[in-house]
Amino acid sequence: MPNKEYYAKHREEIISKVKKYAEENAERVSYRNYLYRQHHRQKLLERERKRRREHRDEINMRRRISFANNPEKHQMTHRKWYAENRKKQVILLRQRYRNLRKKATDKLGGKCCRCGFTDWRALQIDHVQGNGNKEKQLIGQWKMYKKILELESLEMVKEYQLLCANCNWIKRFENSEVTNRKRDF
Ligand SMILES: [Zn+2]
Repeated sequence: MPNKEYYAKHREEIISKVKKYAEENAERVSYRNYLYRQHHRQKLLERERKRRREHRDEINMRRRISFANNPEKHQMTHRKWYAENRKKQVILLRQRYRNLRKKATDKLGGKCCRCGFTDWRALQIDHVQGNGNKEKQLIGQWKMYKKILELESLEMVKEYQLLCANCNWIKRFENSEVTNRKRDF
């Protein structure tokens, strides 16, 4: 292709011309870019999503390095963004959390394994061997749900079960798992 050849030969020259034009006509160029983005919004979004998917590790690594080099700047940006989008962020996080919780409880059977109660609002994930608080403190609720989703069914059943709030308290009472209070009986 002659165009390609021409470009290869005059690359530096063309780039410097384009740069000069952009500097001299900054407003015009930025408006044209804006129009282009508006017009091709969907296409650009899809392209960006695809790029992120394909280069996820690389992008995350770059972000981590940049954060390590300049943590204050990143924290400021995050704080500003969070302050502006606080409500949206809270709703999004809650949604994601509930979806994750729902998936984990569904995988565990979706009902209390003692009495069959099914309302998700009062279903709790119980550690068969106890030690639930320890794990919660160590890795957090969020990661525990993720872990459940990744576990093989057999391993999962050995570690976790679903109990309703009532049965959970009864089990704790039976096993004397309530240790954060002093008892003399
Ligand atoms: Zn129950």
